[in-house]
Amino acid sequence: MDYKDLANLIFPDAKEISYYEEKYKKRDLPEGAIVTRFAPSPTGFVHLGSLYQVVIARKMAKQTGGVFFLRVEDTDQKREVENGVTGIIESLRDFGLTPDEGMINETEEIGEYGPYKQSLRKDIYQAYAKHLLEQGKAYPCFATPEELDEMRAKQEAAKIRPGYYGVWAKYRNLTVEEAVEKIKNGDPYIIRLKSPGREDRKIKHHDVIKGNVDFPENDQDVVIIKADGLPTYHFAHAIDDHLMGTTHVIRGDEWLSSVPLHLQLFQMLEFKAPKYAHIAPIMKEDDGGKRKLSKRKDPEAAVSYYTEIGVPKEAVSEYLLNIANSNFELWRKQNPNSDVSEFELQLNKMSVSGALFDIVKILDIAKTVISKYTAGSIYEEATNWAKTYDEELYNLLQDKEYALKVFGIERGNAKPRKDIAKWSDVKENIEYMYDDEFYAKERNYEYQKVTDKELINKIITLYMEKYYNENDDKQTWFDKIKDLAEEVGFAREVKEWKKEPEKWPGHVGDISTVLRVALTSKANTPDMYEIMQVLGKERIFRRFEEATK
Ligand code: GLU
Repeated sequence: MDYKDLANLIFPDAKEISYYEEKYKKRDLPEGAIVTRFAPSPTGFVHLGSLYQVVIARKMAKQTGGVFFLRVEDTDQKREVENGVTGIIESLRDFGLTPDEGMINETEEIGEYGPYKQSLRKDIYQAYAKHLLEQGKAYPCFATPEELDEMRAKQEAAKIRPGYYGVWAKYRNLTVEEAVEKIKNGDPYIIRLKSPGREDRKIKHHDVIKGNVDFPENDQDVVIIKADGLPTYHFAHAIDDHLMGTTHVIRGDEWLSSVPLHLQLFQMLEFKAPKYAHIAPIMKEDDGGKRKLSKRKDPEAAVSYYTEIGVPKEAVSEYLLNIANSNFELWRKQNPNSDVSEFELQLNKMSVSGALFDIVKILDIAKTVISKYTAGSIYEEATNWAKTYDEELYNLLQDKEYALKVFGIERGNAKPRKDIAKWSDVKENIEYMYDDEFYAKERNYEYQKVTDKELINKIITLYMEKYYNENDDKQTWFDKIKDLAEEVGFAREVKEWKKEPEKWPGHVGDISTVLRVALTSKANTPDMYEIMQVLGKERIFRRFEEATK
């Protein structure tokens, strides 16, 4: 009896690996094209750190004419969550990061290299496990849980490296006959790799992000096929990345220490190993120190957080590119209107230690992103968001024609307003433009510099009676406010007042503020002329009269 007989006994129905090698053709892609993937377990939760990996991986694929695919790694069925795949797919879609291939919902997929869900690839893994068994590169291990516990206890007591390796690998050297007998006997078993590695030897590895790293070789006889017949992640990923033509494995650096094992697997399976790029996690400042952004402690670690508060998806992706390559910021400054697809991301320029998370920066980017939207897109996006998250805002936006006028204020010009960072800011931002809301809320008439009620009333009344004309263009409108300033003894020009501030109680800006506050009950608003255009005479006068009461 030889290894072949053992392999046949264990996997009688498995196909020859040549079947799969021929079935999955080499990809026909341009030179330098990167094929990469996002390979989550279907736990439903998408961490900002995962989105970060996706943004990077997908961008690298896109900018080289390659392929980005989604592979669901569901071989650890204990960790699975119902509809976990949908959660992931929806998050990617929400952020405009749909993959080129892979799962598109719980059950369907696109692409020629599937199935893209590991639990459906059992036959493939078993074929390769059989192939290793045939060559004596893998073996059945009959260790019972008690035996393994005992081994661990001994290793702990002797303070030696834990694991199933070397002399501890009790079933590594069974003869084929002994193994066959145990199997025929019905003894339960799993399949382990017969590692040729030695702990006292080093491998050199060049990581695209981390640079050169040295590791001891892997000498653990890791499990490759579990008792349920499914592979472990380590074994499955090597076969999948080989058959799916992955050129670059781009993933979180918690996997860096698995590289010796992964390279060994590729070698033993006689596959060409992909390049590895291990991304440092996103960090957060905490109590003067730094720690990983945490699913448990930080609400902003969940990508759903950004959807819920309504940060536009491009802003989140742009932020992530920003922390991926520090030269992005300069590029953005020089190319304020370019699409991010024009930025060339470089893996080897990524930071080796983690980037620091900064919500202020995300919101800042979001403000710029939104400032470039048309009134129409703001309307669409805000309505869409409000439909799920804010009924009041949704109702406010029902009058589309009016809402478009409101969103059109100071927009579409060279320096558009930058006051909205997220859709949850919109209500507060536009409420005063709606009479029902304006009168229902307590108004905040704080006129800043001018505090004398009599003077305030005089300014407002004069403005209504003498200076307001709904047909004035902006220049005339503003000249009239200057006239009004002069009439009440204030400086016409801010500049003049600055030269001799003792000469007047204030300047035209203070008069504008009185009018602005009376009109909107806010000291800061976008352009008052445009606001007046949208409100119209009747509504303006009603507000002014209300303010003078
Ligand atoms: N399934 C692994 C995870 O959940 C993927 C690791 C990899 O990308 O190779 O992180």
